[in-house]
Amino acid sequence: MRCPYCAAEDTQVKDSRPTEENQSIRRRRVCPVCGGRFTTFERVQLREMTVVKRDGRRVPFARDKLMHSVEVALRKRPVEPERIDRMVSGIVRQLESSGEAEISSTTVGELVMEALKGLDPVAYVRFASVYRDFREAADFQGVLGEIAGIRSAGASTGADGDAGLAPAETATVTRLRTDTR
Ligand SMILES: [Zn+2]
Repeated sequence: MRCPYCAAEDTQVKDSRPTEENQSIRRRRVCPVCGGRFTTFERVQLREMTVVKRDGRRVPFARDKLMHSVEVALRKRPVEPERIDRMVSGIVRQLESSGEAEISSTTVGELVMEALKGLDPVAYVRFASVYRDFREAADFQGVLGEIAGIRSAGASTGADGDAGLAPAETATVTRLRTDTR
């Protein structure tokens, strides 16, 4: 496995153990060139699935991509990597067990939102703001209402940009925050 830090071709496995009730193997690796440490997971892929985007494009389902968008939403949030990994595995399992070869990106997005809601409310808002592409201020208020009491919510929307928030919507957020004090 190539080193993600310095791109050295060979890294060494330091430790290897089963996780998620034996559904995956976690390996701690170290790079002999730069000393970088990272973790890989090995797991069964039951079926090939295709994601149908909103514009009709079809792309192979990739766990890594799903993981990436979840990680962006969870950036700097106090959530253990193992919990994130379990959450993503749960979503993949749900998709696989649906028996469908083609799944809509909407279905994936809804599952992620549902899972994030329970895991971390701030990440949930970040993901929802990008995913739902709030065009209506009312949408955003609805989501904020679901997580009322979390003051830091909506402070950042992650690497995917500004989530299309118009100034009026930002003002609404500020007002809602003031009201919760
Ligand atoms: Zn390295």
